[in-house]
Amino acid sequence: MTERVADPLPPGSTIGILGGGQLGRMAAHAAQQLGYRCHIYCPEADCPASQVTAHVTTAPYDDEAALTEFAKAADVISFEFENIPLKTAEFLALHGLVRPSPKVLAICQNRLREKDFCRDNNVPTTRYAEVRDSEAFARVLRDIGVPAVLKTVELGYDGKGQVAVQSDKDLETVWREFKGKAPEPIGIVEAFVDFRTEISVIVARGSNGTVASYVPVENQHKNHILDQTIAPARVAPRIAERAEVIARHLAEAIDLVGLLAIEMFVTDQDEVLVNELAPRPHNSGHWTLDACTTSQFEQFVRAIAGLPLASTYRHSDAVMRNLIGDDVDRWRDFAAEPGAKLHLYGKAESRPGRKMGHVTRVVPKA
Ligand code: AMP
Repeated sequence: MTERVADPLPPGSTIGILGGGQLGRMAAHAAQQLGYRCHIYCPEADCPASQVTAHVTTAPYDDEAALTEFAKAADVISFEFENIPLKTAEFLALHGLVRPSPKVLAICQNRLREKDFCRDNNVPTTRYAEVRDSEAFARVLRDIGVPAVLKTVELGYDGKGQVAVQSDKDLETVWREFKGKAPEPIGIVEAFVDFRTEISVIVARGSNGTVASYVPVENQHKNHILDQTIAPARVAPRIAERAEVIARHLAEAIDLVGLLAIEMFVTDQDEVLVNELAPRPHNSGHWTLDACTTSQFEQFVRAIAGLPLASTYRHSDAVMRNLIGDDVDRWRDFAAEPGAKLHLYGKAESRPGRKMGHVTRVVPKA
C-alpha cells in the first residue's frame, strides 16, 4: 500500500469513520473544529454521527462498491468501534490509508489475540485459556479454578457473551448457555479477578511515534455497563504510574497510530492486570472533553490526521456519569445544574442499556 497523503492532512481534508455511534459523533465535532470534513460509513440510517456530518454512506460493511467509493472520498479512514469486520478494514486498506492499521484491529477485536499480545509483550493479564468444547472447558477450569468467567472470543462488549462460572458442578449447563450466546463456540476462560478497582488509561500515538497519555481513571460498572468514571483514579501514585507505563508500552508495541484505551484491574495485592484493549476513543475518556486541555476526540483526530499530539493536561477533576436508558428523561435537571456539562447523543428512542448521553461534573484543580 502506498501512503497517498502527506502528514499532516491539511484543513479541508476528509476523515472517514466507520461506525456512526456517539464516539463517531464526538470525533466528528473535534474534526470539524480542526477544519476537517467527516464522512461517516454506517449500516444504519440517522445514526448519532451522521446527524452532524455532511457526508454519509449508509451501506453494509461488506458492500465493496460502497467501500471503494468511501475510500476514494476519504484522506484517512478510521473506526469508532472495533467490531467492524476485519475484512472491511483490510479491503479499505487496499484503497486508502487506514489508521490504526487493520493489524491493530485484528488484535483488539479478539480477546485471545489481545491477551496473547499482552503476554508476548510482558504485560500482565489475568490467567486465561482458549476452549472449543465442553471437555476442554472442564480441563481448563481444573487448572484455572473457580470462580472464572467464560467469554466469547469476538463480538462481546458491555458484558455481552459472558457467563460467570461460580462452581465446577454444572459445567455442561454453563457451556450450553455460552453456546447459545456465542456466534462461534470458541471461548476464553479467564480467572475471576477479585479486583479492588477498575481503571483505564487512554493513550495516543502519532504518526511520528510520539506518545501522550491521560491520567488513569476509575471506572464503576452497573449491569456490566460503565456507570461512572472518576478522574483521576483513586489509586496510589505508583499504581497510576505503572498503568501509564503499561499503556505507553502497548501503544508502541502494537505500532499504534491513533488512540488506544486500556482497561485494567487493580487487585488488593497491587497488581495491575490488563483486561481489554480498545483502539479508538473510549467511554471512559469522555471526561476529557470538559476537564482537559485536549479531549480524547481531538487527540484521536490529531493522531490519525498526522498532526502533532496536544497537551493531555487535566485542569479539573471530573466525574462522568453515563445516561443509560431512561436516565436521559432527567435532561432538564442536568441542563439546569450549574457546573454539570450535559452531552446528548441525538438518539430518538431510549431503550434499557442504551447509552443516550452523559453528564460530567468538573471541579477545577486547586
Ligand atoms: P469486559 O467485556 O471484558 O470488559 O467485561 C465487562 C466487565 O465485566 C468488566 O469491566 C469487569 O467489571 C467484569 N469482568 C470481566 N472480566 C472479568 C474477570 N476476569 N474477573 C472479574 N471481573 C471481570
